[in-house]
Amino acid sequence: MDNADIARTLDAYAALLDLAGAGHWSVRAYRRAADLVRATPAPVAELVRSGRVRELRGIGSGIEARLRELVTTGRIAELEQLEREVEPELVALGRYLGIGPQRLVALGRALGIRTADELRAAAEAGRLREAPGVGPATEAKVLEALARGREPARRGLTRNRALALASQLAEATDATVAGELRRGCELVHRVALVSGARGALDRFAAHPAVVALLERDETRAAGVTVEGIPVELVAAPPERFGTELLRSTGAAAYVAALGPLPDAPTEEETYAALGLPWLPPELRESPFRGEPPHLVEVADIRGDLHCHTTWSDGKASVLEMATAARDRGYEYLAICDHTPNVRVVPGLDADLLRRQAEEIAAANEQLAPFRVLRGTECDIRADGSLDLPDDVLAELEWVQLSLHAGQRLPESELTARVTEAMRHPAVRCLSHPRGRILNHRPPNALRIDRVLEVALETGVALETNGLPDRLDLRDEEVRLAVEAGVPVVCSTDAHSVQGLDNMRLCVTTARRGRATAVDVLNTRPLAEILRR
Ligand SMILES: [Zn+2]
Ligand SMILES: [Zn+2]
Repeated sequence: MDNADIARTLDAYAALLDLAGAGHWSVRAYRRAADLVRATPAPVAELVRSGRVRELRGIGSGIEARLRELVTTGRIAELEQLEREVEPELVALGRYLGIGPQRLVALGRALGIRTADELRAAAEAGRLREAPGVGPATEAKVLEALARGREPARRGLTRNRALALASQLAEATDATVAGELRRGCELVHRVALVSGARGALDRFAAHPAVVALLERDETRAAGVTVEGIPVELVAAPPERFGTELLRSTGAAAYVAALGPLPDAPTEEETYAALGLPWLPPELRESPFRGEPPHLVEVADIRGDLHCHTTWSDGKASVLEMATAARDRGYEYLAICDHTPNVRVVPGLDADLLRRQAEEIAAANEQLAPFRVLRGTECDIRADGSLDLPDDVLAELEWVQLSLHAGQRLPESELTARVTEAMRHPAVRCLSHPRGRILNHRPPNALRIDRVLEVALETGVALETNGLPDRLDLRDEEVRLAVEAGVPVVCSTDAHSVQGLDNMRLCVTTARRGRATAVDVLNTRPLAEILRR
């Protein structure tokens, strides 16, 4: 049994645990173990036999026991039992169709249905109402949901989760990621892939992440993940690969406006045949006219201006974060831990900030010429004042302003509170201005037009935050800032070393807002940023 076989079994086990309603943590532990096994160069079966598998980080005693069973018997008994019990395809379909998974499983049991095709056939034949508790309304709902087929799911995946899913599928099918994910949409409702490889459709249909297959013909397969997220693979012959990639990437309105697409092996050639310059995928939401702007790139970013450490709710020390930032090729990093008013996590008052300064000075000595900046993510208090005394604010090199409470205040009150705080002379940047959490909390009522006016007056920059469930400012608001001439900052708000990698997410958001490197403050050298 090689590492790929073991990883595949662990993935299937994780998916079934998820379907069976196991806790989030155990599902995640098995998913991580699968990734770990896949990435381990040594044969994991050998490590299991010699009792050394726990040396791999993230393999605990529970997972070790399952691995031993798998390596010695070739199977995991509980996995087989789960396969008999949970009917993954029906649970996934339930989530996808917006019908309670338990309900759909009960219905499937009553009628002997196990697949999407059988469900469709039964619904079309009017057989669903033979099941207890199913009336014409449910039957109509199932039919309508199945017919909707190609429409996006209501809730979307955040970009990092969509990227993880898509790269797994893309690797298995030698495919290129297209669709919303390639366009950089903040939530992904459908994962779309294009592959020119032989047998890609078969590999896609057999992949453990594709729990239920909804459609399949010679050119395309579509299915659903455990979470009910639609996934789709288009098989394109090499001579038409560029055409299909272009078609699968753009939003419907954008693609339709191009007219009939000529056949070409690459996207560049397809555009050339249309007589158009290649357009960055982030701009393919709606019909585009004119010359594409030269959008900002991750490589243009010289430093990250918002991150946390163990001084507040971060997981790494000042030195660890700074070293990781330097290793990513940056020239500077601003440490912006919370202030006391935030309450739910530890906050730093003036004394603690001055003690942190010593640690920052030591890191600077060690990492020079790299620069660690003394910063803060300073809360706006209920009365509109800043959560630190003026003397310590004046010592800091980078002050992020943040509203963490009062998210539901009425528009005028909220806008007044934020714009008043922006006028404080120490403030350099407004963090996550709309305070939204994707899939969870709507944006606040802040008037962006007023904020832009005050930003122009005061020189305060606006952040587009890289946390995958924030991405705030969002794309359209970045565009307003760019048009107004207000500098945008792409920062990750990292709470760990890995969090620094989310720079690609906020840069993508800035690109969707048509920002060029000139529009993004942290593409500039430090001297220009500190000069105000
Ligand atoms: Zn914050
Ligand atoms: Zn923060």
